[in-house]
Amino acid sequence: MKVDIIGGGIAGLSLGIYLQHNGFDTTIYERHTTAGGLCTGWKRGAYTFNGCMHWLLGSASGISFHTFWQELLDIDSLDFIYFDERVQFELPLRDRHGSNIFHFYNDVDRFEQYLTDIAPEDTKHIRLWMSRIRYIMPLLDYLPPVFEDRPWHRNLPLYVRLMRLAPMGLFMLRWSRITNTQFAKRFRNPFVRMAVAQLYEKEMRMAVLLFVQAYAAKRVAGYPIGSSLHFADKLAEAYTDAGGTLKTNTLVSGIVVADNQARGLRLADGTCTSADFVASAADWHWTVFDALGGRYITDNQRKLHNPPKERIFYSFCILYLGIAADLADLPHFFRFPVEPFASPDGTRYERLEVHIYNYDPTLAPRGCTTMAVNFQTREGQYWIDLRNNDLQEYRRQKAEFCQHVISLLTNKLGSHITDRISVTDLTTPATYARYTGNRLGSSQGWTPNDNVAMPFPVTQTLPGLERFVMAGHWMKAGGGIPIALHSARNAAWHICNALGRRFEPNKKGK
Ligand SMILES: Cc1cc2nc3c(=O)[nH]c(=O)nc-3n(C[C@H](O)[C@H](O)[C@H](O)COP(=O)(O)OP(=O)(O)OC[C@H]3O[C@@H](n4cnc5c(N)ncnc54)[C@H](O)[C@@H]3O)c2cc1C
Repeated sequence: MKVDIIGGGIAGLSLGIYLQHNGFDTTIYERHTTAGGLCTGWKRGAYTFNGCMHWLLGSASGISFHTFWQELLDIDSLDFIYFDERVQFELPLRDRHGSNIFHFYNDVDRFEQYLTDIAPEDTKHIRLWMSRIRYIMPLLDYLPPVFEDRPWHRNLPLYVRLMRLAPMGLFMLRWSRITNTQFAKRFRNPFVRMAVAQLYEKEMRMAVLLFVQAYAAKRVAGYPIGSSLHFADKLAEAYTDAGGTLKTNTLVSGIVVADNQARGLRLADGTCTSADFVASAADWHWTVFDALGGRYITDNQRKLHNPPKERIFYSFCILYLGIAADLADLPHFFRFPVEPFASPDGTRYERLEVHIYNYDPTLAPRGCTTMAVNFQTREGQYWIDLRNNDLQEYRRQKAEFCQHVISLLTNKLGSHITDRISVTDLTTPATYARYTGNRLGSSQGWTPNDNVAMPFPVTQTLPGLERFVMAGHWMKAGGGIPIALHSARNAAWHICNALGRRFEPNKKGK
């Protein structure tokens, strides 16, 4: 049986592998020259730039996502790095030992010890915070549960174990209500109060933050040596090894529907394909409103047609630098305050957030290093319109922005480093939108807010449309690679059942 899949990002590739393992004949149609979608990287001269992740959930055992990856590829043969410190950042204050650097350690015990040392007056809040991370850590093996398609009584032992998750609902409700900025106000120590408010570049729900900390503390979310590009290549290889067909440079323009059943794809070159089932692992908005003309949708879903930009997970401008200098002495990830300035899209920044890839020797020649300076933005439309309407002006504004950021780096790091910049490359939301079709260049789908704990209208199937399913980071608020992977597994299961088969995640080969 034939399944056509739109999009060769993490979701499309994962879905393709699951279906190949279950005996389907799949083709992935990908608009770009390579698979991977947002999970990518690229070469500029002698340098490779990591275009995406620093933390792959499930890179090691102890979390259900590791089981899912094992179903798809030999994840344990890849090399991952686990950082002791998530990030360190400079504050305009000093702690009681005279340091203006805050260390955000990944290990809970170490972080707790560090915090109680610099802010003994806040011990109560620190202990509560760390206890919540420790509470989550053992549950990660079940979140989400690794269900299998078998009679309910054979799943009974799993259901019994899942009882441990019952209090999780209350936990999520409670910690989704407050953000780190609000939580910070509980601290009396001014240094720690300011640091907790700045743990991330943007305000985060505490529930999300606690999970991120639990993953890091458990060392189950690592950076893949060779960058996101290497990881995406490995997944694409697993797909073609499983017998799947990957058609790159192939833009899909619509979904062919007859009698309320998806029957194939309409390609941009005017041809149509024919399939027993269609899956979209592309942008949610494009799929529902463009490819299907908004015909199969609930009222609540229709309200997401033109969502306020705050509902869409931020996009990025990222300045990538190839530097002919060995930066081994610098932290791998740090932030520091700068004279406030606005980027061309009007977003104001008061800090620079810098990744230094001094831990991945595969990205630069010996003695050289790649660096990335991140700017989160919700002004995707500005960049997309500018690029579409005036390419020359788009390039001019990018060049001016690059120069300003490099001058800020020079002030901080010194010209002995910035004089050695040999390659520069700036991505904008227009880059992500152009290469992956994500609305406003979103990096992870929908923004997580109250929708993390509350019901969310997006569903993997659409009312009234048969033989069709969706997967990808738009399927659950918060998005990211974990949601892309998990939704792909669910989509494969759905297709198997809809076509009268039992879903077998581990059955390799046709
Ligand atoms: C800078 C950055 C850092 C990130 N860091 C992390 C991290 O550390 N951890 C993490 O978990 N996540 C991270 N993310 C998010 C993560 O990369 C994405 O959430 C995830 O890769 C999305 O995968 P996807 O398959 O759902 O969607 P996509 O990657 O968007 O894939 C969709 C694919 O469909 C194709 N497509 C779209 N429309 C069409 C069409 N009409 N015809 C043919 N093909 C089409 C696109 O070209 C694309 O390849 C990061 C993202 C960015 C940008």
